[in-house]
Amino acid sequence: AKAAGKNRFLRFHPDMMTALVQRTEMEAGLQLAVTRGEISVAFQPIVSPRIGQTVQFEALARWDHNGERIPPSVFIPMAERSGLISEIGNEVMGLSLVQLAPWLREDPSRSLAVNVSGVQLQEPAFADGVLRLAAACGVGAYQLVLEVTESVFFDPGCGLIRQLSSLREAGVRVALDDFGTGYSSLGRLQDLPVDIVKIDRTFVSMVRTGQERLPILSSMINMAHSLGLTVTAEGVETAVQADYLTALDCDSLQGYLFSLPESGHRLERAGRQAEDA
Ligand code: C2E
Ligand code: CA
Ligand code: CA
Ligand code: CA
Repeated sequence: AKAAGKNRFLRFHPDMMTALVQRTEMEAGLQLAVTRGEISVAFQPIVSPRIGQTVQFEALARWDHNGERIPPSVFIPMAERSGLISEIGNEVMGLSLVQLAPWLREDPSRSLAVNVSGVQLQEPAFADGVLRLAAACGVGAYQLVLEVTESVFFDPGCGLIRQLSSLREAGVRVALDDFGTGYSSLGRLQDLPVDIVKIDRTFVSMVRTGQERLPILSSMINMAHSLGLTVTAEGVETAVQADYLTALDCDSLQGYLFSLPESGHRLERAGRQAEDA
């Protein structure tokens, strides 16, 4: 029975061929995506409920390939596997700094968050490149936030630690993305070189009526605060969730309730309309 069970997975199915061809085609396409200008960035606002304003934008990579938008959940892991993540990551960093520089320069308390993968943080020239780019755009290092998932800390080489240290010494902040979904305990938070915690939307989605008791959520926020960290909640979709998180003293909120991720072009137009009004 064991042999038959194993064999089941070895039998070839025509769908596997189609999937394989599609993936190979996509990987070949991804190699040319940057030079072809197919990579763009969408920006999603992060709002401070205390100030009632957008204080930060998160940059999210977009890939338009053969008239189709491939989701980052597909092409980012593909880029990480095939060694293309640094090229794509640099493109995202460059595009988002250039597009948001005017908005950032207007107010030093505004910031830009960019997702970076562990592979990028291993590169010896990463920190220098980021700091040089920010300076060239007239953006302060303290206005930059790098979002990483806790997996980058599982087995951090000394290269990664060095890159993160020089960035943080220059004022760049590090956000721990998707907090709560990983394996490490709340207690491990104090050992990680991070400044901001982003509570994953699976926890935010537990708030439905606003009457529930959610000790996990309040513990995460209180623990982060007691360590001197700032807390952002992701995936806020309802006003009930926003009110609940604000009552728990969450520092900033992000989600479809406020805005979908939008192209820099559309943000600019909305900004001009707001100024004209
Ligand atoms: P993430 O960093 O956790 O980004 C948040 C994701 O949640 C985004 O998906 C965003 O569009 C989505 N989202 C925002 N608000 C809501 C909401 O209210 N409800 C729901 N259901 N979803 C919401 P997106 O843009 O598809 O990105 C998926 C993931 O791809 C990101 O998750 C991030 O891990 C990765 N990614 C995106 N851009 C980059 C990049 O430039 N570099 C790297 N390394 N990873 C990236
Ligand atoms: Ca993120
Ligand atoms: Ca996240
Ligand atoms: Ca995520």
